[in-house]
Amino acid sequence: MALRSITLLFCSTLGLAGQTGKPDVLVQKLVSEISLDRIGTTMKHLGDFGTRSVFSDTDEPGNGIKAARTWIYNELKSYSPRLEVSYDPWKVKKQTRIFRDVELVNVVAILPGTSQPEKRILITGHYDSLAIVTREGAGDFRASGDGATDAMDAEKSALSPAPGVSDDASGTAVVMELARVMSQYKFEKTLVFVAFAGEEVGLVGSTLYADRAKAEGQKIEAVLNNDIVGNDVSGDGRAQSGLVRVFSEEPADSSSRELARYVRETAQKYVPAFRADPVFRNDRFSRGGDHTPFVANGFAGVRFTTPAENLGVQHTPNDTFDRASPAYTANVAKVNAAVAASLALAPSAPEVNREVTTGANKGRQLPNLARGKSLYDAVLRWKDAAADDLAGYAVVMRPTTSPFWEREIFVGKATEYTFEGLSIDDIIIGVKAIDKDGNESLVSPYIAPPYPRRAIELVQ
Ligand SMILES: [Zn+2]
Repeated sequence: MALRSITLLFCSTLGLAGQTGKPDVLVQKLVSEISLDRIGTTMKHLGDFGTRSVFSDTDEPGNGIKAARTWIYNELKSYSPRLEVSYDPWKVKKQTRIFRDVELVNVVAILPGTSQPEKRILITGHYDSLAIVTREGAGDFRASGDGATDAMDAEKSALSPAPGVSDDASGTAVVMELARVMSQYKFEKTLVFVAFAGEEVGLVGSTLYADRAKAEGQKIEAVLNNDIVGNDVSGDGRAQSGLVRVFSEEPADSSSRELARYVRETAQKYVPAFRADPVFRNDRFSRGGDHTPFVANGFAGVRFTTPAENLGVQHTPNDTFDRASPAYTANVAKVNAAVAASLALAPSAPEVNREVTTGANKGRQLPNLARGKSLYDAVLRWKDAAADDLAGYAVVMRPTTSPFWEREIFVGKATEYTFEGLSIDDIIIGVKAIDKDGNESLVSPYIAPPYPRRAIELVQ
């Protein structure tokens, strides 16, 4: 098939983006098994540990972070013998917000993949909590953001009650509920469920985990980080129960941004009554989360957060269960389940770059997109994803100024496609792989690397 002109491309002859893959019955089934009751029970139970400050590492039963992680570990263990549950301990030296040497322990549950086990999808949240007590004379502060942590008395904060139900017992409940439901099924790729420690003292558990993953050359295809997904009424009384924000780092076609687009489309497909709305920045203004160290290491990661943050309650003893909405958290969990399952069943994103073998660009990876013999066509090529259950590929496109893919065309098992008379300068094109059950890979966009800075030699 050949298509003429950009006008035609953006008219109705092509399918709307995101509609190619039909829903997979397995994904539909597991989304329907997400239990509101279990999520509520988990959020309440985690809040009942009093505090989960990283400095509350005592042996007191039922109280503090050690009791909390023992409970999380045992719960994960109980879900399925196929879940490989472990502690991931780190001895961290006194520094910045860490006022004494402390042991931080992530809790990890791995569901090994069947046919593509080296590829990993992470579903994450943090189980530590924090209530901020300010230093004497530090003056007024708002409970969250706006310099509160700069004015924090770390030692006094460590002793304060910190139920942390929305931040982030809710994200931990999402992680645990997905581990429970998904461990009853098999997936091609490996699913990794992580409850991080030390988020509240500087993303410490996630940074150590992400740096090690990078050093080991782990193939992490996506990090779905859930942090503050427990409430849908903000401090000024506004209720926003119908959507969750999905934060992703720049630039416009970074792997994290493609993941955010994927989350949006997958939510439309499997959880149509609820929206996953991308926000085009890495996190809330001037703030960070446990996806951030993964993004910094070159992995694709997004953060799920309620649009109704209760900023007067966050990081205080008042982040309690009675202010939370497990029904809201359950919707966020359903989106996570649909995305994680789709990705774990799908082929990987097609390779759209080629290595240049001659000339000035020798050795560089450049997009395999060209103007063709006519000089006025768009000719794109990609590498075969070599998946057993591949149905074929879809080409997607949007104007350079548009946030989301607008059109797509299914091209079967081709590894090359030509749009006649289409300027490659004016649109962004990408390719995704789709399996026989309708599960789609992330999109690989054709993006030229930035022009490198270079020095011009002058005659002396
Ligand atoms: Zn948090």
